[in-house]
Amino acid sequence: MGLNGVDNGRLWFEHVRIPRQNLLNRFADVGADGVYTSPIPGESRRFFTMLSALAGGRAGISLAGLSAAKTALIIAIRYATKRRQFGQPGQAETLLLDYPTHQRRLLPRLAQVYALDFSLKYLQERFEERTEADGREVEALAAGLKAISTWHAAATIQECREARGGQGYMAVNRFAALKADSDIFTAFEGDNTVLMQLVAKACLSEFRQQFHDLNLFTLAGYISRRAALALADWNPAAKRQTDPARLRDSEFRLDAFRHREQELLIKTAGQLKKRLDQGAEAYDAFIEAQTGLAAAAQAFVERLVLEQFVAGIEQAQADAPRPQTTVRFVRPVHH
Ligand SMILES: Cc1cc2nc3c(=O)[nH]c(=O)nc-3n(C[C@H](O)[C@H](O)[C@H](O)COP(=O)(O)OP(=O)(O)OC[C@H]3O[C@@H](n4cnc5c(N)ncnc54)[C@H](O)[C@@H]3O)c2cc1C
Repeated sequence: MGLNGVDNGRLWFEHVRIPRQNLLNRFADVGADGVYTSPIPGESRRFFTMLSALAGGRAGISLAGLSAAKTALIIAIRYATKRRQFGQPGQAETLLLDYPTHQRRLLPRLAQVYALDFSLKYLQERFEERTEADGREVEALAAGLKAISTWHAAATIQECREARGGQGYMAVNRFAALKADSDIFTAFEGDNTVLMQLVAKACLSEFRQQFHDLNLFTLAGYISRRAALALADWNPAAKRQTDPARLRDSEFRLDAFRHREQELLIKTAGQLKKRLDQGAEAYDAFIEAQTGLAAAAQAFVERLVLEQFVAGIEQAQADAPRPQTTVRFVRPVHH
């Protein structure tokens, strides 16, 4: 479909002897006597330590996806400030960007680009400063942000192509190349849907760590019992403070996102526990809970992105304390 300069293939080695000095032995070794050793105790920990090498690649793909989305939005928004289509007889035709549907199609995506940009900078910092203790958390961040930002890129490029009408189809307007080359970002370095399961499992084990002496499924039972009471307190909408100022308040939004995340996680953990109590195999129980896990992972990543968005805006305002400029061509839209 795209990336036509990239040659994909397979490579086999048969009867090739690799000298021990050429072993890829950063995390484990095989001695002259054939004994396998590793400074990382435990198979699972070793596996995840090795996998963590993928986090850097995933962060890179996220940035590349975001870059493609930015480019598409620049092309579509600029066009929308120039192109006029339809209007009252005898009057100048209406600018595309003055159509509320056009604003709604492009501007939330523009905001999301900022939110993701702040989030990927956060990921970059966490990645550079990662230690063995938080390596798994950083890996989950990288996986979740990779999925969200490359899905966002694919959908944004499509929307921007449509927002340019037939012009969007011309090669000179770059959507063909942007689409073809970035579409695969949703699959390589880990398929997004599969990565979100990794995120969900990390969320569950993070939960478990918070209550470290309970195992996951005892925890699920404990949480389910507690949940009915706690959720009512956490749910910002339940407090019925839903006037416009409150709805625009970032604390309110963060509370709402945190509430959704907790609720989805608790519900799914409860579902898992129920099936295990009924004697289901762990693998089957996880498969049955898969859509719930995916929703919980999505809520986790979106909460994280919102947190970074809020922090990024605050930081930008602190760095540049000057009056807000008005973007002229966008008429305020009231809902
Ligand atoms: C252009 C390109 C370059 C690549 N470069 C490299 C490279 O340099 N190195 C490398 O190692 N690999 C590379 N790959 C391979 C790439 O990483 C894999 O294609 C990718 O991880 C998806 O795996 P798969 O193709 O086996 O899909 P599958 O795993 O078969 O997935 C197919 C579909 O099934 C779904 N699915 C699969 N498992 C589950 C599950 N457990 N639960 C729910 N849904 C599931 C997926 O979401 C997906 O939609 C490249 C691929 C391409 C196309």
